[in-house]
Amino acid sequence: MIAILFGPPGCGKGTQASIIAKDINIPHLSTGDMLREAVKSKTETGLKAANIMEEGKLVSDEIVINIIKDRICHNDCEKGFILDGFPRTLSQAKELDVMLSKENMKVDLVVDFSVNDEALISRIEGRFSCGDCGLGYNDHTKLPLKEGFCDECGSNNFIRRKDDNRETVSKRLEAYYKDTLPILPYYKEKHVLNSIDGLGDIDSVTTELMSLIKK
Ligand code: AMP
Repeated sequence: MIAILFGPPGCGKGTQASIIAKDINIPHLSTGDMLREAVKSKTETGLKAANIMEEGKLVSDEIVINIIKDRICHNDCEKGFILDGFPRTLSQAKELDVMLSKENMKVDLVVDFSVNDEALISRIEGRFSCGDCGLGYNDHTKLPLKEGFCDECGSNNFIRRKDDNRETVSKRLEAYYKDTLPILPYYKEKHVLNSIDGLGDIDSVTTELMSLIKK
């Protein structure tokens, strides 16, 4: 199963991708996570991407395509993977198809998460995660069960993304509407596109997503 979770920043696709990937035991590939890792480790790619990400702009197609190309040839991707945050431009979508066709693979499912902008901004401003195990939380919808400690690993090291502030979020939304949303007709034509309401609670969105994946 090769599935793309598609939608604006804050729509919940990252949360759902990690739940679904664990559930069906295939990797969750988030270009945003991979780029943040590269920035943290100060690799050549990370150094090129850091400022662009902080400004809420898109990193070049060449950089993200190479990241995905290097990742999907690993053995753990043989049975498929869930893409989150890629593709974000039509060139990335087309290049992904070229890469997959060389392996006799194709995109099986694209799920578009619909959410309105105000809900997105409030969600993004509220989100934080455990700096040790990566579990995600939100001030408005999902606080740790025991205040100050991660539910998963007990750590008290919580972090917020640098680009999760109102000003950068507006830029990220702008990039989404300008460069990413226009990809949808490409997948519609291929009859792989489905839409779900991203505003539901986490469990009901997961149920809806699972039913699409099992179809
Ligand atoms: P995300 O975690 O998916 O919100 O991504 C964070 C940031 O990483 C984005 O605002 C972009 O600067 C960059 N990024 C992630 N994925 C891509 C992509 N497919 N194309 C271009 N830039 C990306």
